[in-house]
Amino acid sequence: MDAKNMPDNPYFLLTPGPLSTSKPVKSAMFRDWCTWDKDYNDIVQDIRARLAALASRNNGYTSVLMQGSGTFSVEAAISTAVPHDGKLLVLANGHYGDRIALIAQRMGLEHTVLDSGEVQRPDLDQLRQTLDQDTAITHVAVVHCETTTGMLNPVQEIGRIVKQAGKVYIVDAMSSFGGIPLDMADLGADFIVSSANKCIQGVPGFGFAVAKKSELEQCQGRSRSLSLDMHDQWQEMENKNGKWRYTSPTHVVRAFAQALAELEDEGGVATRFARYTENHRILVEGMRELGFSTLLPDEFQSPIITSFSNPDHPDYDFMRFYGLLKERGFVIYPGKVTGANTFRIGNIGHVFPQDMRSLIGAVAESMYWR
Ligand SMILES: *Cc1c(COP(=O)(O)O)cnc(C)c1O
Repeated sequence: MDAKNMPDNPYFLLTPGPLSTSKPVKSAMFRDWCTWDKDYNDIVQDIRARLAALASRNNGYTSVLMQGSGTFSVEAAISTAVPHDGKLLVLANGHYGDRIALIAQRMGLEHTVLDSGEVQRPDLDQLRQTLDQDTAITHVAVVHCETTTGMLNPVQEIGRIVKQAGKVYIVDAMSSFGGIPLDMADLGADFIVSSANKCIQGVPGFGFAVAKKSELEQCQGRSRSLSLDMHDQWQEMENKNGKWRYTSPTHVVRAFAQALAELEDEGGVATRFARYTENHRILVEGMRELGFSTLLPDEFQSPIITSFSNPDHPDYDFMRFYGLLKERGFVIYPGKVTGANTFRIGNIGHVFPQDMRSLIGAVAESMYWR
């Protein structure tokens, strides 16, 4: 293993977050911050401005940070955006799409789900038809990179249809934002949601939404939840110069500021995307050479996380394989697909092509069943 890139950790996390972070990101947490002091609030405001700039080259977008893991921010965005007499259409093809539907169900929100199955992309004709026929629908939500499988959904094509129909568009870009170039203006997205511990390579503790300002402005009083009210959180941050409504994850925020600076130093989202794409290429080519096959066809596959079929061998046991890889410095991820027997390997985080090459060597050594 290359010691230079070895994070201060006995192994790399090849998972979709929390993931391997750099030493400076971890070190940034070695200080205590006062939540209402200017030093800290300036950091928050700087993060907010940077996130909005990452999400679109156009003005007219703003960002809100929210305590909790990524799901809290998805729930906050849905609760804040969809009015009491609104109706949400969810395009689902995996666990995270299903979770959006579950969120709607729990808050008693009128909703409908178009489920294309875990290995298919959303059916755009069906989307068009549904929007034509069900005029009660006001909002449409989809996951960009479905982390269940690694599927990359066509958010731009979907956005075109959603905007043609005049609906509000919400994208869960949790596992892609900062790692795959996108511009909310091109997508027609009104809200995108992500979190600290994915492609921006921070540590877990908060999520965020970037929202079209004119849309968020209309959301006052809609949220069914007090603590997850993104409109009120936004107002507080706007009017009190970066103050959060309730105790904020100060250390995590400071680490995130460092992670954003490192994203910029690396050359921005396009350069990070190129690194992830190269990581992914080395991963898939290497695994295929060793006899593994991917769940998804290449044209559906994101350069973020990849599902591989478990070997069809009587002696193969995922946990034993996992243990051998962990001993060699790599932690992988079990599968989550219901209809297939898979495991997953992520290639995002503070990991580099030489680390992915080392991984392939470790996989070869760990194939005890051969
Ligand atoms: C990680 C992730 C989430 C949020 O998961 P948390 O465990 O709540 O952080 C939501 N959607 C997608 C697509 C994700 O990858």
